[in-house]
Amino acid sequence: MPECAYIHIPFCRRKCGYCAFVSYNRPELQGIYVEKLIQEIKSKYKGENLKTIYFGGGTPSLLEISQIENILKSFNFAQNTEITLEANPDSVDLAYLKELKRLGINRLSLGVQSFDNELLKIANRLHNGIQAINALKNTRKAGFENISLDFIYGLPEQSTDGFKNDLKKAISLGADHISLYGLKIEDGTPFSKQKFENIADDDMQAQMYLSAIEILSGYEHYEFSNFAKNGKISRHNMNYWDNEEYYGFGAAAHGYIDGKRYSNAGNLEIYLKNPLIPESEHKLSAKERLEEEIFLGFRRCAGIDTKKINKKFSIDFDKKYADILEKFQKSGHLERTKTGWKLSVEGILLSNEVLCEFLD
Ligand code: SF4
Repeated sequence: MPECAYIHIPFCRRKCGYCAFVSYNRPELQGIYVEKLIQEIKSKYKGENLKTIYFGGGTPSLLEISQIENILKSFNFAQNTEITLEANPDSVDLAYLKELKRLGINRLSLGVQSFDNELLKIANRLHNGIQAINALKNTRKAGFENISLDFIYGLPEQSTDGFKNDLKKAISLGADHISLYGLKIEDGTPFSKQKFENIADDDMQAQMYLSAIEILSGYEHYEFSNFAKNGKISRHNMNYWDNEEYYGFGAAAHGYIDGKRYSNAGNLEIYLKNPLIPESEHKLSAKERLEEEIFLGFRRCAGIDTKKINKKFSIDFDKKYADILEKFQKSGHLERTKTGWKLSVEGILLSNEVLCEFLD
């Protein structure tokens, strides 16, 4: 049974240039949305004591405290349950953060993206660098001991040095966790309709990524894009990479229950009309489950545990994939570990090509 729950809050004040997430500037629908969301939770949630709860978005910090409180009341959780809320620096102040803490939220994920005002403007973010710093300081002041910062690399006009400076600043400010996102311009986003002259190509993005690994050497690089200090990894996201089940509640949320992956309607109006019926549902075959286990497992820097996979899928991993393992071990993209296999840094940079070979 799932022990983790994701809750999608699809509201934002403004669309960021690179954003491909489901989000709406419809504050008047927030109240009814929370009602429907709770209706969905009540119908699907079986009352398990949850290990993690994650409010993602959109901008969950646009919710009123009473709305978050009502959502949380629908779940059973303990004091050590990891409860994360994503927040934008422009939508939190000290009083709000203290209230979040009072509700039991114990991990705050701040969408900083950069401290550079010019880049933030290009990305159409609502905050500036000073607001990001203040939001981080206030989060600490409110008593949060687990603060994650999100950064983007590859933005138009962004230099590798500029990106490095952002990360150095994050370290000096004491971030507990850092998530990186390499910009991909996706169809339908505001960026896809603009022309940029000075924008990183794949090689430059790879250089930026490598420099991040170097700068963040004091952190545990535990997943392709995630770095943690003092063991403060995202337990919620680890559950995805461990290929375990989880609930997904809200518009555009995805879940994985009883071997079925489902996704809810991304269209807000459709979701509000019928929050109980997913837009799509798919029961995974044994082959699909194994492929997902491999794809997700290799995202962890520790790699995959072959003993666990062999037991779970009644296979001999090393035998089944002997040719692929040999080929990529020789090329330096895969490395043996005590428990199985992991991608080398070169392998991470070429992960799509390497992992595709595990598909039949
Ligand atoms: S805050 Fe996040 S979800 Fe909202 S528009 Fe920006 S990138 Fe998209």
